[in-house]
Amino acid sequence: MPDRKMADPAEILSQPLSLLPGVGPKVQSRLLKLGLSTLEDAFYHLPYRYEDRRQLKLIRQLGNASTEVFKGTVLASGESCTKRTSRRIFEVIIGDDSGTVSLKWFHYRRNWLEKRFPIGQKAIFIGEVKRFGATREIHHPDSELLQGDDDMALLSRKDPISFGRIIPVYPLTEGISQKQMRSIWFPLICDYAHYLPATTPDSIRKKYHLLDRLEAIRQVHWPDKQSNLNELEQGRHIGRKSLVFDEFFYLELGLALKRAGVQLEQGSRMPCEHKYTLPLSKMLPFKLTGAQRRVLGEIKKDMASAHPMNRLLQGDVGSGKTIVALMAALIAIENNFQVAVVAPTEILAEQHFRTFSPWLERLGLTSCLLQGSTSAAEKKQHYAGIASGEIDLVAGTHAILQEGVEFQHLGLGIIDEQHRFGVRQRSILKTKGNNPDMLVMTATPIPRTLSMTLYGDLCVSVIDELPPGRKPVSTKIIHHKNRSKAHDFIREELKKGRQTYIVYPLVEESEKSDLQAATIAAQQLNEIFPEDRIGLLHGKMKTAEKEAVMNAFRTGDIAVLVATTVIEVGVDVPNATLMVIEHADRFGLAQLHQLRGRVGRGAEQSFCMLIPSENYSEEAQKRLGVMIKTEDGFQIAEADLEIRGPGDFLGTRQAGLPDFRIASLTRDLSVLEAARQAAFDYVERTNMLKLPEAQQVREELIKRWGSRLELANIG
Ligand code: ADP
Ligand code: MG
Repeated sequence: MPDRKMADPAEILSQPLSLLPGVGPKVQSRLLKLGLSTLEDAFYHLPYRYEDRRQLKLIRQLGNASTEVFKGTVLASGESCTKRTSRRIFEVIIGDDSGTVSLKWFHYRRNWLEKRFPIGQKAIFIGEVKRFGATREIHHPDSELLQGDDDMALLSRKDPISFGRIIPVYPLTEGISQKQMRSIWFPLICDYAHYLPATTPDSIRKKYHLLDRLEAIRQVHWPDKQSNLNELEQGRHIGRKSLVFDEFFYLELGLALKRAGVQLEQGSRMPCEHKYTLPLSKMLPFKLTGAQRRVLGEIKKDMASAHPMNRLLQGDVGSGKTIVALMAALIAIENNFQVAVVAPTEILAEQHFRTFSPWLERLGLTSCLLQGSTSAAEKKQHYAGIASGEIDLVAGTHAILQEGVEFQHLGLGIIDEQHRFGVRQRSILKTKGNNPDMLVMTATPIPRTLSMTLYGDLCVSVIDELPPGRKPVSTKIIHHKNRSKAHDFIREELKKGRQTYIVYPLVEESEKSDLQAATIAAQQLNEIFPEDRIGLLHGKMKTAEKEAVMNAFRTGDIAVLVATTVIEVGVDVPNATLMVIEHADRFGLAQLHQLRGRVGRGAEQSFCMLIPSENYSEEAQKRLGVMIKTEDGFQIAEADLEIRGPGDFLGTRQAGLPDFRIASLTRDLSVLEAARQAAFDYVERTNMLKLPEAQQVREELIKRWGSRLELANIG
């Protein structure tokens, strides 16, 4: 029992587990291996399955492949040898009035077993029942010896933690048994769970029929006798659901506040003045698609309002986000503001600069490119131009986010390929102006439910239409032995005056050898296609070299670009019609989709050849299958999510998404939707948690997320 004087629940919950009976220094250090050091940690160490020990079954009733608890009498026992492997086995036959079952040990001490299970001994057995034809076996069962005719009632009186109930089965670590875990966790929950503050507000809990946290924690560890075992096993039990809801609720509260906070902030009104936008649309060689126009309309409306824009622009590869971004940039410039365009890689930053600057020049506007490799002298010059307001638009990498970069009047920040950045970059860019508008662009389609948690504070615009005349990319899997076929094909495309990418993966452990592979391939190709220029592009090259190669490819001087994944995002060379991906099995789906998106950008038929390694996993096979089946980025994203699970899918930490203690983004999506609704309603109803009734929720929110969500207007 905790010290009565220590009244602060938070303090009690942060006490070490050694406070509990049965947790000495040894056990404590073992629990630490499971990441458990405080009482609070332990509450969230949840069972991964349950055992139904409410009643003893008859042997006849034992299921198949399920863990069962039953009573029986030893009928026979002895050692035998398997015929094939001549392995020794100890077998005990157990019977009751309804039938018999065989217990088997493969590792054992014979003396001990013979002593423990003499003929006529009654015992309770616990173990997973396996059926082999007509016989049922349990390997290495647990057992509790009985004196005379003890029944479950007696057992559960003697050992109420282990019998007469549904018992939890916990993830273990070496040196701790299930029984030990139970004997620690039972008193933990009984004596300390009530120190957990209730969190989800009562009104919401009632509305969604949820348990408070105390009850939820109790139910998850030590479910009520009448609980539904299936629900427990599948994670649909009310206890777990309540905890998951609680986690999501606080995440969504943060996002709701953030969105509401942005709406309250004062930004700058930047109505479209048509001064540069109109001339640009006249100069463009094409008409905007309907989707581009609609999205631009949404952006215009945001920019014209007094509140800062916070918008996510989603559009599949090749859907034409760049031109929309350029239009938005011009609107800001029309209003005498500056624009920053931040991209994750130098190649992409450079490409944006190349796309933007000629148009800007023709409109009499100034731009510059700022990246890590920019020389000190040039940087100094750019810094001055940016600070004086002389430069209208800066394109670049995270170099733009550096401290020395000060804008005279930043009105719009555009971040491309957001998934490569964290939330942090967005907020740094924001500090470079007076609540500038933000436009975040991503080509990685994110399933709606996930984008809700990731970008929940942003308004979303989707370009769901490709520019006209695009033909689907014809995608094929080529066996590595048929690589020469790919070469023939490259030759044909080259004859037609088209260009080709050949991409090699760059995996960290074997970086060197892959680089070698790409280099050797480039050399070999030089021999195969002597008249055509082959270029090599990889991450280890100096920026100037990379630029030179990219330029040569853009102008067509290089016909075949052998590259590592540096070209993955954004590169736009419409005359390239063939994408060959070597070791395609080693790429993730999002990457494959991005790579394929490099072709099919012009009016010509384009092709993608996936050449997997000699041996590849089943999962890789699934990925390649998806690539053959669809070109729709959203479908690919859904499939990716399914194959990989959300943590991996998002690269959780990098994406700035908190780790959930219990909730799972794939399993609990419906709970997420409900929690989001509840949180957004709650923020509105309590005037951004300012009403007294929201006091506790507010404190809990600050405790959980602190500055991580950069909450606006609270704290
Ligand atoms: P992404 O959305 O992948 O960034 P881009 O903006 O790079 O796509 O556009 C892909 C290609 O399509 C570019 O060559 C661009 O000039 C062209 N494009 C964009 N919008 C249109 C349009 N409305 N009609 C025809 N071509 C377009
Ligand atoms: Mg792009």
